[in-house]
Amino acid sequence: MKIQEVFESYINSDKTKSSLKAHKGKVDKYISFTGNQDVETALVESLLRKYIFEDKELKPKGKYDALNNFYHFYYEEILKVSKRNVPLFPIDTKELVSWTNKEKRRPVYFPKEFDFNCLFEDRYYEHLNNYGAALAVKASLSLALSAGYDSGEMFPTNGEHEKAMKMDDVIIEGDYVKVRNFSSQSTVPFILMRGKNAEYIKEYHKLRMSFPIKKAWQKSHFIANTWKTNELSFDPKIASRVYIPHDLVSYMLKYISLKEGVPTPLITDLRANMVLHSLYNSKGSALQDIIELYGFLPFVKQAFEEYCMTTSRDKEPIFSVLALEMVQSEEAFNDEEDEKKKIESRINVIDRLVRDSVKVKKLKKIYGNSCQICNEQITFIDGISYSEVHHIQPFNKFHQGIDDNSNMIVLCPNHHKIFDMGIIALDPENHQRILHVDSKNHLNQKMLVASKHQLSSTHVRYHYENIFMPLRESLLETRKQEVL
Ligand SMILES: [Zn+2]
Repeated sequence: MKIQEVFESYINSDKTKSSLKAHKGKVDKYISFTGNQDVETALVESLLRKYIFEDKELKPKGKYDALNNFYHFYYEEILKVSKRNVPLFPIDTKELVSWTNKEKRRPVYFPKEFDFNCLFEDRYYEHLNNYGAALAVKASLSLALSAGYDSGEMFPTNGEHEKAMKMDDVIIEGDYVKVRNFSSQSTVPFILMRGKNAEYIKEYHKLRMSFPIKKAWQKSHFIANTWKTNELSFDPKIASRVYIPHDLVSYMLKYISLKEGVPTPLITDLRANMVLHSLYNSKGSALQDIIELYGFLPFVKQAFEEYCMTTSRDKEPIFSVLALEMVQSEEAFNDEEDEKKKIESRINVIDRLVRDSVKVKKLKKIYGNSCQICNEQITFIDGISYSEVHHIQPFNKFHQGIDDNSNMIVLCPNHHKIFDMGIIALDPENHQRILHVDSKNHLNQKMLVASKHQLSSTHVRYHYENIFMPLRESLLETRKQEVL
């Protein structure tokens, strides 16, 4: 039955006359939004969620009421399900509250002592009665919890499948599974998975390779319908039927949360939960590794904020390297001052540090870690190479250089040192010509071997005038006196 047909009975039904005026337009809009599919595939969580929260034209509350009403009409009047037995509307009213006045809702977090392993316990999956479906959920949960994938990155929804993860984003290598890193803020291309989570991915991969995928738009995707819809059975209090992987994972999260007596997170919240719990388990020291892997993306930021709020009484330092900068920026707040400001300041410090280190890494990547003066590339035994980034106008309080590509040059450690000291400089008239304090030195008047980014004249001139020239003059002075 097409959703449009249900809508027609809905309009003509006496039962809905009173509420119809307010709801009709919104339901009608939903029908064109779904492209008039069969009602069962149109009334699914992922689409409802998208329409209610992501469509910016109308406020979520109105759309929620209209669709909730229509949903009940469908079950009670078309399917003749008694009121008590209608499955839960896939979106909870609480979500509307957490969405209001915020661009993005706060994730729902599992309690501190929650054991993620219970999400994989077979006893919760038995009622589905389907190996392929259970494994698809376990693989999705593993990707979320160990590789930080969220629903948009894992699941194709009809029409938006370009964004979702593909078969070749997953590489099986012996005991390991390598998954493409989705984060644009990170320079780490793959996330390495091992242990139990890797096993679920491997097992699913095997099944996925041999399973005939029916839906054309899922053919190249890693997580797809590896089951037949009519084979599944559900807890009717939560859902009667589920058609696509996104909704199946949501359903299982609801099912397990109810059984465990914990709040139900969205699939998208799992990665924030993963970050929060690794912060708990490591007393905060995991943050640096997490940032290395994902950058300081909103879900990392949110989890860190939650961590600071729930552990704000702990007096222990949060993590070593960043701690000093953090303490300095927190000096401005005394004890009586609001905890919230302190947390914000921590987040700002980390945010800046991350942005800076991402900039430096990107620049080094452009030059393949080779020195712009001598082309030297220092390579360690495992193929990892090393270079340094020099700030032409020094990046400190005294010289007040800025942390921007136009003030940076990639160098080997030797040339970094002599650039720092002012023994060499770049010509302020031609940013690619090297000047040496000793005009007879082989580097003098040589050009940079690689120059792939623009430098700012201000910074080049600053280094030349304030660091290079004073050194050169004092050396010439010394030589004059020696000659005499
Ligand atoms: Zn060099």
